Amino acid sequence: MGILVAGTVALDDVKTPFGKREKILGGSASHFSMAASFLAPVQIVSVIGNDFPKAHLDYLAAKKIDTSGIEVSEEKTFHWKGHYEYDMNVAHTDETILGVLTKFNPNLKEAQKNFPFLFLANIDPEIQMKVVNQMTNLSFVGLDSMNFWIESKQKSLWDVLKKADALFLNDAEIRELAQEASLIKAAKIVQKNGPKIVLVKKGEHGVLTVTKDFVFVAAAYPTEEVKDPTGAGDSFAGGFTSYLYSQYLQNKDNIYSMPVIKKAVIWGAAAASFCVEEFTTEGLEKTSIEQIKERCHDIHEFTSFEKH
Ligand code: AMP
Repeated sequence: MGILVAGTVALDDVKTPFGKREKILGGSASHFSMAASFLAPVQIVSVIGNDFPKAHLDYLAAKKIDTSGIEVSEEKTFHWKGHYEYDMNVAHTDETILGVLTKFNPNLKEAQKNFPFLFLANIDPEIQMKVVNQMTNLSFVGLDSMNFWIESKQKSLWDVLKKADALFLNDAEIRELAQEASLIKAAKIVQKNGPKIVLVKKGEHGVLTVTKDFVFVAAAYPTEEVKDPTGAGDSFAGGFTSYLYSQYLQNKDNIYSMPVIKKAVIWGAAAASFCVEEFTTEGLEKTSIEQIKERCHDIHEFTSFEKH
């Protein structure tokens, strides 16, 4: 079966100090799927307009990502335009055109309702709720969002959070959502409302994981080549969720154990490091599963030390 991911499939315009690209393949579901495809079968639930190039769908399908759940509508494809300064941890949004999203009302097919893993990638929280409410056999629900939805649909976001096992937000987003400066306190506030695992993404500074039982501080892979960080968060989530899925296949009861969660975090961090090295999803496209494993090993080497 695998992972069902609901999110955006977009056309992005991105400018960084290292180049500028227009109408490239973007969207939370695209980045998530590319990163998850190494360890799990993935099917996307989304919507595009008839302006969306078929080549982009073929590109996803070439990675064995199932695109049959992407509806085609008359409106324009979701469009995000953004830029980064030299501090590439901060994305500056210049334009968001919702287009097809405004009328998207996903009606899942029976086979889709039965997936054991659901990832609600960054998209309107009302759409996230419609999707999760149709699922019948869930073992894991991950959820991502961003300032755009925290500011425009916060009540709906808190509602859908109740359905999530794991929440992925960056540091600024969780502070804004919880109205709390301390990341640990912010994670605990959010946990009271649902998710067992809170993953606070901190760009090149790694990820802070907070569960009821433990806190795990993980570094990012220190790559020298950062061209475009767009999609790094989604790629982290794709890597994390697919690792968890691979463990679920071996032992369904083990996915919330500390060693599995820690390894999933490091796998996600390694996958995300390939995303940032190129524009759009090209970094992940060129990567092999062996290269991701190597970077997991490197992260371990870079951060381990003898006890005092
Ligand atoms: P990330 O850098 O991981 O936060 O993801 C960036 C991707 O999210 C881009 O490819 C955008 O197309 C997509 N995106 C940007 N804004 C939104 C939004 N408001 N809702 C859903 N997806 C978005």
